[in-house]
Amino acid sequence: MPERENCRLVLVLFPLQGHINPMLQLATILNSRGFPITIAHPQFNSPDPSNYPNFTFLPIPDGLSKGSFAAKDFHSTMLAIHRNCQEPLRQFIQQTLEQKDPKDQVACIIYDAVMHFAQKVASQLNLPSINVRTSAAASMLAFAAFPRANEQGYVTFTDSLIQDETHELQSLKLRDLLITMGENPSDTILELRAATTSATRNSSAIIVNTIHFLEEEILPKIQEYFPEPIFAIGPFHKLAPSSSSSLLKEDTGCTSWLDKQASRSVLYVSLGSVASMNEEQLLETAMGLAMSERPFLWVVRPGSVSCAEWLELLPKEFQEIIGQRGCIVKWAPQKEVLAHGAVGGFWTHCGWNSTLESICEGVPMLCWPVFGDQGLDAKYISHKWKIGLELEGKLERGKIAGAIRRLMVEEEGEVIRQKALAFKERAEQSLGTGGSTNSSLDELVELILSFQP
Ligand code: UDP
Repeated sequence: MPERENCRLVLVLFPLQGHINPMLQLATILNSRGFPITIAHPQFNSPDPSNYPNFTFLPIPDGLSKGSFAAKDFHSTMLAIHRNCQEPLRQFIQQTLEQKDPKDQVACIIYDAVMHFAQKVASQLNLPSINVRTSAAASMLAFAAFPRANEQGYVTFTDSLIQDETHELQSLKLRDLLITMGENPSDTILELRAATTSATRNSSAIIVNTIHFLEEEILPKIQEYFPEPIFAIGPFHKLAPSSSSSLLKEDTGCTSWLDKQASRSVLYVSLGSVASMNEEQLLETAMGLAMSERPFLWVVRPGSVSCAEWLELLPKEFQEIIGQRGCIVKWAPQKEVLAHGAVGGFWTHCGWNSTLESICEGVPMLCWPVFGDQGLDAKYISHKWKIGLELEGKLERGKIAGAIRRLMVEEEGEVIRQKALAFKERAEQSLGTGGSTNSSLDELVELILSFQP
C-alpha cells in the first residue's frame, strides 16, 4: 500500500461560489487525512491561495472575460470552460506525471461533476477519477433519466423511469422531481447533462456532499444506475475546519447586530451567489419583511436586483423599518450567521450548500427556489423532510409575511421548528464515531490508497 504523502490528489473546481466552497472543503478533509492536494481551477473566479497554504494551486487558462456569472449565461459559460480547459489540464498533469518526484505522483483526479471533461483527461492519462456531486444525490438521477438521443456517443438512458407513473422516490414522484429541474431543457442543457452522466459512469467512484439519512431511500436507486461505489460524506463544511473561500468580502459586522437580537427571533434572507430578483420582487420582499414584524438580516448582493446597483429601489418607509429591526449586507459570513442563536428562520433560494448549512444548525427554511436543482431541494425541504415551507407562485407581500410568521412564530409552525432541530441532531450523529459520514470517509480513504500511483 503506498504512503499517503505520495498520493497527490488533483481536485478540479468549477468556478462558482456554490461549487468552490464544497470542493475546497473536500480538499481540506482529504488533506487532513494525509493526502497532498493540487487545486486545478479556471482563472475566472480564482480562489485565494493564501487561505490554503498547504495546497498547490493550478490556474487553468479559460479564455473567459471578467464579469459576473449571470444565471442566464450559465450554460454558455460552462460550455466555454469545457472547450478551453481540457487540454491545458491534460498537459499539466502529464508534466507532473513525467517528473520523478515521488511527492508528485498523481494518484487520482477528483472533479466537480460539472467539469466532466476531467474524466476524459484522467482516462487519457490512465488515471482513476472520482466524480463529486455538490448537489443532492437525487439530482444525479434526475440528470440521468432525461431521455437523450445518442448522436454524440454519450451514454443515455431510456425514459422508462419517467414513464413509470407508480414509481415513488421518497414520496416524490420522479415526474415531479424532473419537472423541478426544468420542464423543457434546451439542447445545451441536455448535452451537458448527458456528458455529466456519461463521465459519472466512467469514473471509479462518486463522492456526494449529502448525509445518508437525508437521502437513504434514493441512494440505493442511484446505485442501480451508477455501479461504482458512492460515498455520502457530507456535510463537508462540518468536517473541514473553516477557512473562508468567499469570492466576495464577508460583512462580519452583522454578527454584532445579531448579538443584540433575541434568541431565535431573526429571519436570515439570502439567495446565494447567482440567483437574482426583479424590481417588483424586491419591493414585495421588502414589504413582506416589514409586515412580518420579525427582525431580519437580509443579504442583497450588488447586481442581484435587475436594473439596480444595490438598495436604491427600496422605498423610503422601508429605510425606517431597517433602522428599527433590520440589517442589510452585501455578503454575510453565512455559516456563522446560521449558527448564531438569534437566527430562527432562513428564507433561502435552496442552493444545496445553503440547505445543508441550515439543516446542520437546526434552522427551519422558507423556500423560494429560483432555478436548476433549487426546485428539487425545495420539494425535499417542504414536502419530504418537512423542515420548511415553500413560497409558491408570485411573490406577494401578504403571502410572504404570513409564511414568515407561520414558520417562526405561530403554533402551526412548531412541528416544523421541532423537526428542524431533530435534523440537526441527526446530522451531528452522522459525523460522530460510527456515524454514516465518518464510516464512508474511512472507506473512501481506503479506496484512494488502493489506486497505485
Ligand atoms: N454564502 C455566503 N454568504 C452569503 C451568501 C451565501 O457565504 O451572503 C455562501 C453559502 O454559505 C454557501 C454558498 O455561498 O456556501 C452558496 O451556495 P449555495 O449552494 O447555497 O447556492 P448558489 O450560490 O450555488 O446558488
